[in-house]
Amino acid sequence: MNRIHVLDEETISHIAAGEVVERAASVVKELVENAVDADARSIRIEVSADTTGITRIAVTDDGFGMNSDDALLAFRQHATSKISRPEDLDGITTLGFRGEALASIAAVSKVTFTTKERGSSSPEAARLVIHGGEVITRSAVGAPEGTSVIIDGLFYNTPARRKFQKSVATELAHVYDMVERLALSNRNVSFVLMYQGKERFRTFGTGSYPDVIAGVFGTGFTRELTPVSGTYGLVSVDGWITKPGSEMKTTQTRFYLSINSRQVTSRQLQWAIREGYGTLLPKGMYPAAFLDITLDPREVDVNVHPTKKEVRFSRERDVMRSLQDAVYHALHEERVFSGSAEEKIMTLPAEIVGESVPVYSPVRVRNLPAAPFKQTEKQLRRTESDAPAETTSFVPEVLGQIGDTYIIAKNETGDLIVVDQHAAHERIMYDQLVARSASADSGQELIVPIPITLSKKEIAVLPDLLDVLARAGYVLEPFGKDVWMVRSVPVVSSTLGDPEVIHAIISEALDGVGNTDEVLDRVLKTAACRAVVKGNTPLNPEEMQRLLRQLMATKSPYTCPHGRPTTIVLSKSRLAGMFLRT
Ligand code: ADP
Ligand code: MG
Repeated sequence: MNRIHVLDEETISHIAAGEVVERAASVVKELVENAVDADARSIRIEVSADTTGITRIAVTDDGFGMNSDDALLAFRQHATSKISRPEDLDGITTLGFRGEALASIAAVSKVTFTTKERGSSSPEAARLVIHGGEVITRSAVGAPEGTSVIIDGLFYNTPARRKFQKSVATELAHVYDMVERLALSNRNVSFVLMYQGKERFRTFGTGSYPDVIAGVFGTGFTRELTPVSGTYGLVSVDGWITKPGSEMKTTQTRFYLSINSRQVTSRQLQWAIREGYGTLLPKGMYPAAFLDITLDPREVDVNVHPTKKEVRFSRERDVMRSLQDAVYHALHEERVFSGSAEEKIMTLPAEIVGESVPVYSPVRVRNLPAAPFKQTEKQLRRTESDAPAETTSFVPEVLGQIGDTYIIAKNETGDLIVVDQHAAHERIMYDQLVARSASADSGQELIVPIPITLSKKEIAVLPDLLDVLARAGYVLEPFGKDVWMVRSVPVVSSTLGDPEVIHAIISEALDGVGNTDEVLDRVLKTAACRAVVKGNTPLNPEEMQRLLRQLMATKSPYTCPHGRPTTIVLSKSRLAGMFLRT
């Protein structure tokens, strides 16, 4: 008996679906890209959800549509109008070309597809209803030119996949993120994102980068950007990046890059951009970058990944060098500091863009790079008040500091110890935050609440985090369109209300799964890290002594909350060995 057989179409389509349709956001991506390929001027994305997950996705476009026969064919595996021969792969100008998306989506959902060809003389549009890949009905209905795709019951017939979907908030955040990216990379198209029947997001298809950035992130954000444009080596670059000295992030969530109009993610490109900043970028921080990169299509291969986000370059090193140069030049031109981004943004009237609420931050002002000592003094005092007055452990005697980062001291047995001042203070702060979070008074109300402008994604997930944040001592409340107010922060430090800290906490809380205790722990660790003495900070002997006293009062003085050592011991016998005295 033969054991090998060719798989039937249904099984094949399920396998393909697994690759293309990972989650709701991938459906949105494929449908929107089809709309863009169909020359749409405006695209509307509607999403609904209940407690079980995203229940419905509808994408409507005013593109060139299809006739009834093509519509039926479009749902077949490998059916496409975009390429026909192998050599076409070298000159792809559309976003899609594999002919997989519609078949894959239809295999794992219930689709209602309505399409009418542009310029068609018939008043009727073709409608197909397809469940799990099977055509249920085919009819003619009245509809405007263009295409509307409604997806109900995503993964209804693939329970395993359905189970892998994250919380509604997280799936929604991915959808927002996807639409943001699509809007940023298709600036001539107007996008509307609706959730539960309400408009959440709109761009106007003006073609201008700042307009779209303002629509997505708020007008205030565009003031922190500077333009990049020109040809450098192999690449032409056009777009915007964060001005030196503006707010940077610790996560690389704001890289929006396209290569020859195709949005891509690429660690190498991100690296090249950061290299271009050189010393203008604080260590561990990331700028925002919205860049269109153009280069000879023969230098780049986009056909490497099913969802086509990754790219390969034939001369990778040269491409990176060119991009790095482009960024470097943009940052070293005089206008960087002249606020030219601001002048260019308002090509739309304010009532359309929506006035952004002025963001002032009393805490920020207090936090301006103060006289270096004062600042450290404050950071140390913060943890002092909560520390037990006495510690029974011996407090090592400070001998000095090296590299403005390590405290050199002597312990009770006369061994030499080296303490990482940041890791040590982190341990102290973290312990206090944990203790406070277990008590009823973990928070302190701010006299002046701090407004913070959140991204759509943050706004989508924040409601899910409020309980955990409250345990940490945070109270946040919605205020304006994309502004929330920080009303209360952990008792140990009022700087924990800094927008930068809140952004980091939200992004950290979302990073990975876990029960509420685990999420709380991540929140506390992030907060602790932000509020304490950093490396590269000179400390005077008295400050170092106080830090060591606080450290010895903690339960586990020898590791920081992330498990790295706070202290290295060089015992006398070890020293003797090193000097070959034994
Ligand atoms: P691909 O986009 O890779 O060609 P799809 O499965 O996404 O594959 O779509 C199959 C075909 O259906 C497309 O090549 C296109 O001709 C047609 N199509 C899909 N969506 C639309 C749309 N919104 N408007 C017009 N034509 C569409
Ligand atoms: Mg497609």
